[in-house]
Amino acid sequence: MNNIQEFQRKLLMDRSIPGRIGSILPDLDVPKQNLPRPELLRDNLDFPELSEPEIVRYFTNLSRLNFSIDTNFYPLGSCTMKYNPKINDEIAFSPDYAGLHPNQPVDEVQGALTILYRLQGYLREITGMSGISLAPLAGAQGELAGVLMMRRYLLDNGQTQRLKMLIPDSAHGTNPASAKMAGFNVVSVPTDDSGNIDLKALRAETTNDLAGIMITLPSTLGLFDQNIVEICHIIHQAGGLVYADGANMNALLGQVKIGALGFDLMHLNLHKTFSTPHGGGGPGAGPVAVKSILEPYLPSPIIEFNQELDEKSYYLKSPNKSIGKLAAFHGNFGVLVRAYVYIRSLGDYGLKQISQNAVLNANYIKEQLKEYYNLPFDRNCMHEVVFSATKHKDKGVNGLSISKRLLDYGFHAPTMYFPLTVDEALLVEPTETESKETLDLFIETMKTIDQEAQSQPDLVHDAPHNTPIRRLDEAKAARQPDLRWSRSEEP
Ligand SMILES: *Cc1c(COP(=O)(O)O)cnc(C)c1O
Repeated sequence: MNNIQEFQRKLLMDRSIPGRIGSILPDLDVPKQNLPRPELLRDNLDFPELSEPEIVRYFTNLSRLNFSIDTNFYPLGSCTMKYNPKINDEIAFSPDYAGLHPNQPVDEVQGALTILYRLQGYLREITGMSGISLAPLAGAQGELAGVLMMRRYLLDNGQTQRLKMLIPDSAHGTNPASAKMAGFNVVSVPTDDSGNIDLKALRAETTNDLAGIMITLPSTLGLFDQNIVEICHIIHQAGGLVYADGANMNALLGQVKIGALGFDLMHLNLHKTFSTPHGGGGPGAGPVAVKSILEPYLPSPIIEFNQELDEKSYYLKSPNKSIGKLAAFHGNFGVLVRAYVYIRSLGDYGLKQISQNAVLNANYIKEQLKEYYNLPFDRNCMHEVVFSATKHKDKGVNGLSISKRLLDYGFHAPTMYFPLTVDEALLVEPTETESKETLDLFIETMKTIDQEAQSQPDLVHDAPHNTPIRRLDEAKAARQPDLRWSRSEEP
């Protein structure tokens, strides 16, 4: 146990005094009501008894043990941990929105439906697609909706044998998982030496059982595939459909329309690109956008507008061949409100600046650090850059140690060991919201760690030294999280 934990425990945990309370209720001034039946009541609740300031200090100190985007730089690649304006949270929390009930009749929620309807329009414009459903609750659920639509479309066209889904080897793990769940057989396509999809290997897979391909653009290597238009063409020629994983849309906003490149459908991660804080796996939204051939299959509901009535004219619709509903209600409304406010407040010009700055920041870090860390793909990157921490291996320092040492300096670690195809991968995504000063501090720190790895490898190897908790059993922390304080717990 280290100092901070001991301090926490002494100060807060063992302070419970029987009978001490944090609030005093006023005298009863309404008629006394009977309590529920005794079997519904509990009187042995094992809560610590503390005053209000003690409780406030407890939770405030606890929150300080967390790493967050509000406290420090968070260059986690593939996740887009950017700063999201607080005003968007505040608006989503407003009782006007947060207080709505999903079972309210449509004519009582016309304002909410107006927001969703307009958001559908903005996202169609941004993606260059003709239909969209805001229903999916996460990127992975958007993918599942997408591949289910592909399956239905192929079946409706008598293409029952088309079961082969191609997925580049750099893909996020959710891509093959979604394809498998929709009944496809996954075949991996290699990346070539310059970081593009290997065209020769791709062509070899264009057999008559090809269903399609799922491509992340830019890829999780942070690279824009230079042959993307040709790839879409090859797949279409072979009778397949092309899916875009749009998790990296913050690199393309306002610059490139995915639909115009030749893709048939895609999902967006509103919690990555359009302003919803998503640390800790909180609520997300993964709208799925499609070309017109797939519109009849979109998940329900779609928000439609009745031109003929001049009021109460927005309504929910299920497309005629819809793959169905993905959740009990209409999607994660609060996340959709944030995306709407974000797009409205930034406008056309602001959205373009996001992608410009995201790409500029990543390339700046790449150029400043490529002398110090191996760069497997030495070409312009998009919104993130992948390094390979292989240089210090002979000193026993690997990507994990470098990441842990960054924590000592107050930086979150980059994404490590992903993409799987890069040895000792360190995937750095600086995002557009970071200043040059923050990037410079990160760059200087990475250079310092490079120095340390050579002159004092043990210092790096044993990191972190300054965090509340040192190295965790990460598998256990993810699979069996123990988040509850219990009185009987040993220190
Ligand atoms: C995050 C991510 C996903 C999955 O999205 P979730 O919202 O986490 O389900 C899929 N693909 C890529 C490339 C991602 O970065």
